[in-house]
Amino acid sequence: MEDDRGDGDIMTITGATIVVGVAGSPVTHSLSPLIHNAWIAAAGLDAVYVAFPVPAEGFAAFATGLRGGIVRGLNVTLPFKEIALELSDLAGQLAEKSGASNLLTYGADGRITARNTDGPGMLDAIALQAPGFDPAAGPAVILGGGGAARGAAAALLMAGSPAVRLVNRTRERVLTMSRALGPLVTGYGFEDHRIALKDAAVIINATALGLGGGPGPQIDFSAAPREAVVMDMVYKPLDTQFLQAARAAGHRTVDGLEMLIRQAAPSFEAFFGRPPPEEVDVRALALETLARMARAEAAA
Ligand code: NAP
Repeated sequence: MEDDRGDGDIMTITGATIVVGVAGSPVTHSLSPLIHNAWIAAAGLDAVYVAFPVPAEGFAAFATGLRGGIVRGLNVTLPFKEIALELSDLAGQLAEKSGASNLLTYGADGRITARNTDGPGMLDAIALQAPGFDPAAGPAVILGGGGAARGAAAALLMAGSPAVRLVNRTRERVLTMSRALGPLVTGYGFEDHRIALKDAAVIINATALGLGGGPGPQIDFSAAPREAVVMDMVYKPLDTQFLQAARAAGHRTVDGLEMLIRQAAPSFEAFFGRPPPEEVDVRALALETLARMARAEAAA
């Protein structure tokens, strides 16, 4: 699999190039190709990571049509994480528990394996940016009721959180989720969020609010212990209004870019059977790209 493409400045596609990628809708602005191709180049692999913009109704046909290793593997993003799990033949424990998969790998025997690396990515990001955080220290509060919230809830429970409180606009959605995840998971509306924040060890924004620089979820941080760690899964912008408000209230914060990078690392390992090369600063690369995107948007 190794090749002799030197320092990776020029990407050469050969007849044997291994293809991996990310499927989503929309997916054009994904930072995953940047991260994975930087690792691929540094590792000297004959491989390429591309984005597949798959139409909403077309994911099952697309993903099952790749059986047998036409591509080595796929990351899966919005809105296909649930269907990715449904169409797989084998599933990891966290994918099964959360009902969502962000990583499909294709075996040569035709089988598709579904995994969830979002949950461990989130926990690794918290461990890195809020050292000493202990999930067992208190309930986790997750704002949101979509695929990201579900993966986070399952991962936190598996890591030892004593309870998970889901706060979401659509109450029915979190009640359905709490039924699927078991009695340690309870659902709240935003009007009750102050009750949910009591004793919280961690507060996570897993809604789409704040994406693109708008206001994040409006919550009263004074209802939470000052020690609660606050994380935002949104990483565009990196320093969201939600994180700024949390810091102003005295909380330690964790950003969504670190989660993106940390979920990518086990994906790379699943694709290529080796961890990503440590010498590449993919966070710096991603920050440069985010800054360039922000400048282009401001100029438009
Ligand atoms: P999703 O399934 O579409 O869920 C979106 C969530 O946002 C739902 O809970 C939805 O509430 C809520 N929401 C949307 N607009 C809202 C509004 N105006 N007011 C209140 N709530 C609103 O998306 P997802 O896959 O869970 O992703 C959620 C966020 O996490 C996205 O910003 C995504 O980019 C981010 N994410 C980041 C990473 C990372 O690696 N950093 C990984 C995964 C996801 P309803 O249920 O009421 O509609």
